[in-house]
Amino acid sequence: MCLMNLQEILDRNFTGITDSYRDFAREKDECRCCSIYEHYKQVGQSEGNAKDPTFMFIGEALGQEEAEQVRPFIGRAGQRMRSELRKYKSTFNKNTCLISNALSCRPLGNKFPGGVTAQVYWLKFDGKNKKSNGRSTVSYCVDRWVHREIKLLKPKVIVIVGGQSLEFIREERGITAARGEWKFLPKYKAWSFAIFHPSYVLRCEKSTEKSYVADLFDQDIKKIANTWRSVIANDPRMQMPDEEFERVRALEFCIDKRMVKDSPLRG
Ligand code: SF4
Repeated sequence: MCLMNLQEILDRNFTGITDSYRDFAREKDECRCCSIYEHYKQVGQSEGNAKDPTFMFIGEALGQEEAEQVRPFIGRAGQRMRSELRKYKSTFNKNTCLISNALSCRPLGNKFPGGVTAQVYWLKFDGKNKKSNGRSTVSYCVDRWVHREIKLLKPKVIVIVGGQSLEFIREERGITAARGEWKFLPKYKAWSFAIFHPSYVLRCEKSTEKSYVADLFDQDIKKIANTWRSVIANDPRMQMPDEEFERVRALEFCIDKRMVKDSPLRG
């Protein structure tokens, strides 16, 4: 259990923070909406720039050290990722990045409850506890916190760290196929890039057949550092004011549904 109060945690974790993010963090700290909280009784907080980050890294869930210190990615796996990021210090640093997790509380025994598990959870609806499976419980938490966090901070680049994050943030499965490529996410007006989770990288580093995973992980971080600027600069959508972007998005949606026949957007 962390002995610091929330104010101390926010002062320590963030290099910049807005009033609305402070309110968001307070509300999140008080979340008791599902039974995942009951295991360790500690809601996690993000770290970095909570004002205007360029990059938002989204991992899976807190491990033991992360839950105890209320800081994401500080265990062995987190250090593996942080040391790789430090090679590109001018790109990835506390002023440009926010690090967060898809699930805000630490799951029992570090077992991410996204798959099919026998464990029954509860979620609070209208003041009453309703039974739920692991997947719905995680979705509920993601909608309630990390989706709001993205909307609040509007990062240009979302780095999806690991398969569970891929599933809940991008609604895709298969990190091996998805990693290493840029993909635009209209929902957030941001570009995303998926990478292996560093805990998987650490496991693979011990195996001769899978040592390539660590190389791919390192290459992916290098690729983000070397290409993000041109990806953003070459996409006119990223230069649009938010309102205009939403109008174009709505129009494209109508065209896709064949509600509008001729569009100036379809040259
Ligand atoms: S896991 Fe998420 S929804 Fe459940 S109590 Fe923790 S913060 Fe709230």
